[in-house]
Amino acid sequence: MRLLLVAAALAIGAVVTGEPTSAAAVPPTLESEVRRVRPLIEATYRSIHEHPELGKQETATHALLLAAMQKIGYTQFVESTLAPTAVIAVLDTKRPGPVIALRAEMDARPDTEPASHSPRSLIAGRMHSCGHDAHAAMLLGAADILWNNQSSLTGKIVFVFQPAEETPGGADDILKEDILGRLGVRAIFAQHSVANMPVGTVSVSPGPTLAGSNTFKLVVEGKDSHAAQPSDGSDVPAALATLVRGLVDLPARRLDISNRPAIISVTYMHVGDTTALSKLQSTGTAWGTIRAFEDVAPTPRSDSSISTLIEQYLAGAAASLRVTTNWSLRKGSPVTRNDQDLFDRIAPPLRGSWPGRFDTAPYKGMFSEDFAYYTQSIPALYFGVGVMRDTLGTVGVHSSRFTVHPAALGEGARLMVLVAELATAGTTQLR
Ligand SMILES: [Zn+2]
Ligand SMILES: [Zn+2]
Repeated sequence: MRLLLVAAALAIGAVVTGEPTSAAAVPPTLESEVRRVRPLIEATYRSIHEHPELGKQETATHALLLAAMQKIGYTQFVESTLAPTAVIAVLDTKRPGPVIALRAEMDARPDTEPASHSPRSLIAGRMHSCGHDAHAAMLLGAADILWNNQSSLTGKIVFVFQPAEETPGGADDILKEDILGRLGVRAIFAQHSVANMPVGTVSVSPGPTLAGSNTFKLVVEGKDSHAAQPSDGSDVPAALATLVRGLVDLPARRLDISNRPAIISVTYMHVGDTTALSKLQSTGTAWGTIRAFEDVAPTPRSDSSISTLIEQYLAGAAASLRVTTNWSLRKGSPVTRNDQDLFDRIAPPLRGSWPGRFDTAPYKGMFSEDFAYYTQSIPALYFGVGVMRDTLGTVGVHSSRFTVHPAALGEGARLMVLVAELATAGTTQLR
């Protein structure tokens, strides 16, 4: 341990008072550096996990990460006006080279964590069920290792701890302020926990990899009636159920889904009144999400958009059901695209350095990510990092049963360090 500290201090050009600068000093290896930062990563993960905060409210997470970065030695921070809970820090090696960014999320979700989990959320109704606590801790570990070995790096590395991935605003706000543009960021990288993928496995593939998301609202209106006499009205509850069934079936029956993958899911419905069970009410509403790798909204060039198909379906079905429909669409995250050139440059050497399984098989997921906003204007790579070992990491994100095996935390830090080294094209002692 003493040797490592000496070597690490030498690496950043520091003077170790009272220690001879021995030629026998062994430079740190990536393995020893990951081991060194593991207590920091694990403590950070536990603390953020126990105190989950929803999007744009990550004040304690902000304070914790900012203090931890300052303790490592970071002094150059960029504040975001639109996303004030973000922590954006710059490692400037003062040597010419590319400017790259590494991004992790900070926000939790409205979920109740099972009592059997350890660590477990201490805040009722909130939980880190998307692994953002792990991603932030992994990035902090990487920031520590990179700071400690900056003498072997070139260029600049921007660390983006980004709020509000789950709710609109996080990535979008940082881009609106052009924070990364003003710093000259030329490539950006992120990683996400993948359940049921073993710890030590990393995945990345070029091209579109995660779907874009849109939310919708469908209002159905008709004639009310006594529940005993549906023929007097429109039977809006049954009409809404029929339309919802038709909507979720639509992609499989109206789209060439091998070339136009799309999912329509209705996630919330409201119709009727529990105090009037013998009345068929006149209004019903359904909300949901559309995931696709194309622009869902109608475009001047195409009348075969998914939105147009939905409107055509609703118009025909509503007429036969004797109801009217009002359909509205709200655009969410665009498609997450991995840059082919960046992939060609980073993936082969990364595969060579990665000690575990490195999976580059083509992958398209119907999940969506606000990292997508960065990928629209900055060459980007989005990695999957396995979090499964033993009984942990076996349930997917957005379930209250989602867990991360602690051994994955060091792997995520290792991945971000290697990516930063390769992308800034520096030589390094960390081999
Ligand atoms: Zn999520
Ligand atoms: Zn997530």
